[in-house]
Amino acid sequence: MSFDYDLFVIGGGSGGVRAARVAAGEAGAKVALAEEDRYGGICVIRGCVPKKLMVFASEYSTMVDDAQAYGWDIQPGAFSWDRFKGKLHAELDRLEGIYRKLLANSGVDSFDARAKLADAHTVELSDGRRFTAKHILIATGGWPTVPEFPGSDLAITPNEIFNLETLPERILIVGGGYIASEFAGIMNGLGVKTTQFYRGPQILRGFDEEARNVIAEGMVEAGVDLRLNTNVVEMREEGGKIRVIDTDGKEQLFDKVMYATGRAPNADNLGLEELGIERGRGGAITVDEYSQTGVPSVYAIGDVTDRVNLTPVAIREGMAFVETVFKGNPTSPDHDLIPTAIFTQPEMGTVGLSEEEAREQEPIEVYAATFKPMQQSFAGRAQRVLMKLVVSKASRKVLGCHIVAPGAGEMIQLAGIAVKMGATKEDFDRTVAVHPTMSEELVTLKTPVRTA
Ligand code: NDP
Repeated sequence: MSFDYDLFVIGGGSGGVRAARVAAGEAGAKVALAEEDRYGGICVIRGCVPKKLMVFASEYSTMVDDAQAYGWDIQPGAFSWDRFKGKLHAELDRLEGIYRKLLANSGVDSFDARAKLADAHTVELSDGRRFTAKHILIATGGWPTVPEFPGSDLAITPNEIFNLETLPERILIVGGGYIASEFAGIMNGLGVKTTQFYRGPQILRGFDEEARNVIAEGMVEAGVDLRLNTNVVEMREEGGKIRVIDTDGKEQLFDKVMYATGRAPNADNLGLEELGIERGRGGAITVDEYSQTGVPSVYAIGDVTDRVNLTPVAIREGMAFVETVFKGNPTSPDHDLIPTAIFTQPEMGTVGLSEEEAREQEPIEVYAATFKPMQQSFAGRAQRVLMKLVVSKASRKVLGCHIVAPGAGEMIQLAGIAVKMGATKEDFDRTVAVHPTMSEELVTLKTPVRTA
């Protein structure tokens, strides 16, 4: 049977674009891709990239104070959201253009349309056109969700935050995950009076507890009004503002309320049910270790499969798919020991097991140092940093490395290599310190602070 394409990719985000490019460019496959919105997906258009640029923008406020402490005679000026936003969107347009060009240069046919599966080998576009393909790859990502409660329609989601007309004077951010905690820091840094509600006892559930505590303490120190064990009961519009009634019975007015309470896989109305493609927890597409669904010609990668929802993981899943299907080399994506950064202020970099997870697994030693870093302490800022290693007593391997510090994301990329290679505490110890730096603490931690 002959097909229009060897591969049809649905979704032009990081994972889909990479799979399409590599299948066409390296494996010589005839490839098409459909995207209903903008190319680049969550990461480029409304996630990692604009978020990180906003983190940079928000960090300048404290830099001016620090510069004064270092003897510079400069005065903080006002932040212009309009000026920043104009530049931000121009940059996103540029990046989207690059994504489109990369596809075209690899020989991928791209369609600006929504696509769904008509059968196991046919994709139907929203304009009615149909194409057949030997393989179909679903890489449609996820979408922010807001829980239902009275007034929930007044909330915005992280999708809208990059397009605000004006910066609010006062914002409430609900949630305690990556996005809520990152945006609490961003908004606070931009001079917005920022309150964050989290329903549990500490933000960033699932990460190392000691690290979470240092981050939360740093955020509060920086000015975020962090309210733990608190949730919204009701919201009402009042004179252009939003009145929020919370679980403590307190009422407050905010200009904006942003919900960052998780994302749902984008798997509705794709024709999956008609084909008998199974969906699991939260509606995610169920796949095997090669990202294959129950229908052999259909694969899925990235957030729509809800495995590890990170851009570089979606890219790895896409490349493993191409290896498996187009290069005759069955490869399953490696989801073990993934280093990651959370761009909170202070920032966190982490790889491997938290102290709590490691304790459940085997006897451990914990090495940790918290201190005020030289650059900030000289400027009179009190935020602490944390350098922490969780070590197996039996194998001496470093099971987890947790860093809370300026630049922690950059540091953990490199520490991640050592941990992934199976480095022991003694391997860290015999590495000479780079002095004076914050991360030198990782190779000079002498005695365990705890054993368990
Ligand atoms: P997360 O799933 O990380 O966090 C959701 C948060 O919302 C949790 O704190 C959760 O609480 C809370 N929550 C869920 N439901 C409710 C509710 N009904 N009422 C109140 N609170 C609620 O989602 P995010 O939206 O923060 O991020 C989505 C994904 O994006 C992440 O999983 C991550 O993989 C990715 N991401 C990665 C980044 C990075 O690498 N730096 C940055 C941003 C996003 P509880 O803990 O109690 O369940």
